[in-house]
Amino acid sequence: MFIESFKVESPNVKYTESEIHSVYNYETTELVHENKNGIYQWTVKPKSVKYEFKTDTHVPKLGVMLVGWGGNNGSTLTGGVIANREGISWATKDKVQQANYFGSLTQASTIRVGSFNGEEIYAPFKSLLPMVNPDDIVFGGWDISDMNLADAMARAKVFDIDLQKQLRPYMESMVPLPGIFYPDFIAANQGSRANNVIKGTKKDQVQQIIKDMREFKEKNKVDKVVVLWTANTERYSNVIVGLNDTMESLLASVDKNESEISPSTLYAIACVLENIPFINGSPQNTFVPGLIDLAIRGNSLIGGDDFKSGQTKMKSVLVDFLVGAGIKPTSIVSYNHLGNNDGMNLSAPQTFDPKRSPKATLWTTWSPAMPSFMSPASILTMLLSSSMFHMWEIARGQWMNTHQRYSWCFTTLAEDSLLAAPIILDLVLLAELSTRIQLKAEGEGKFHSFHPVATILSYLTKAPLVPPGTPVVNALSKQRAMLENILRACVGLAPENNMILEYK
Ligand code: NAD
Repeated sequence: MFIESFKVESPNVKYTESEIHSVYNYETTELVHENKNGIYQWTVKPKSVKYEFKTDTHVPKLGVMLVGWGGNNGSTLTGGVIANREGISWATKDKVQQANYFGSLTQASTIRVGSFNGEEIYAPFKSLLPMVNPDDIVFGGWDISDMNLADAMARAKVFDIDLQKQLRPYMESMVPLPGIFYPDFIAANQGSRANNVIKGTKKDQVQQIIKDMREFKEKNKVDKVVVLWTANTERYSNVIVGLNDTMESLLASVDKNESEISPSTLYAIACVLENIPFINGSPQNTFVPGLIDLAIRGNSLIGGDDFKSGQTKMKSVLVDFLVGAGIKPTSIVSYNHLGNNDGMNLSAPQTFDPKRSPKATLWTTWSPAMPSFMSPASILTMLLSSSMFHMWEIARGQWMNTHQRYSWCFTTLAEDSLLAAPIILDLVLLAELSTRIQLKAEGEGKFHSFHPVATILSYLTKAPLVPPGTPVVNALSKQRAMLENILRACVGLAPENNMILEYK
């Protein structure tokens, strides 16, 4: 059964006019080991830590500024939200379609809240805590191409023609602001669309981005802004001591107009300086150590990297199943025809490298979760051409060293943006929500926000950015459980443990 909303009644939870305050016992473990005659003996001690959470329940009017607004993802997201907001329906050759938010964790998925009369009761994920309604988001952003969003939507060839016709009047007047463009960072084949660029030094460009964000906020009367990079994949920046390894060196390099500081890093610097959350949806190393240092010292949210859309999500689900079942994945071979514009951008070797990397990381970071006899070899082959579909194969070693193969073929017809758009939506909604949550552990004097490197977003990103020294969790089900359970803690609910002991 499905319920629309609920309220928690507990001595540990207090709802006031402006916040939800919860007291929460975090049940965890502490591990100790002893070396006895060369053999380690491990002891696991259950440990309970009392936390308090405070969530500001005032839902702000939210502005979302996309870097690469006129791209396939930017135009698909903007059009999709307008279609939902306006209740647009459109005719295809099969039937009349209605706008929806399917694919969005926050908007279309549910959580289990308990059982009632022998039935499991589910509520919308978004009912856990007050969140921005995506229909109310004001979109804006930058693009190195000055094409308006209606034409950009037509160029992207994602939506049906009837839907495009109905969206056109809403999107024609949306024109991206000029962007920061250095030809060296993306493929040469992108140069022809760069007719909308910010002139001046790097310092001038950062100042311009700051000015753009302030003006956007003012003009649209939004309370908060979140910025997200959905522009083309850049090449990696070299990380060099004295250039971009610390906050000081990075800011000095901007002042000196150093060529190795990438456009994406400049947008991110501008956001951190303005305390505006910045999320990186592409795989390049926007978050060089100096930028992470700047964000930590400024306590400004950064999250990334690279949207975890179709192919990667399916692989991480299948590998989750194999590892959980005690079966040894031995290789992943992946063949990816990309036909959209970023696919063309990725045909240059320097931009292809970052794209390959998160996929490999996803795979290799599985190893710690596996018993040591499993050390998967990873073969990742991505070929690019003008038509589009993904193929991949996972080989598994099973009972008595026999082998099996799974082969998958995605025919997404360059409509990957239909997968990326709801992920972008979730990223900005959850980033905004997480800035309204404060916590403190037993013994900590003051409430503080989450760590500025937002690991809470890791379900949505391919190569989750984590603070130095923090474990990376790549298993999709664990990432979702982490997010859901943290939000449950904010309303004093125990983590979902699926034990259903009352029926055992
Ligand atoms: P796209 O090429 O259609 O759009 C990118 C846009 O960015 C273009 O309009 C381009 O003009 C603009 N741009 C490039 N450099 C810019 C800059 N410095 N400043 C401002 N604008 C700039 O690509 P897309 O299909 O929308 O994908 C966008 C990004 O999302 C890519 O990096 C891609 O790797 C990443 N991504 C997409 C998916 C997916 O499923 N669609 C999944 C993971 C990651």
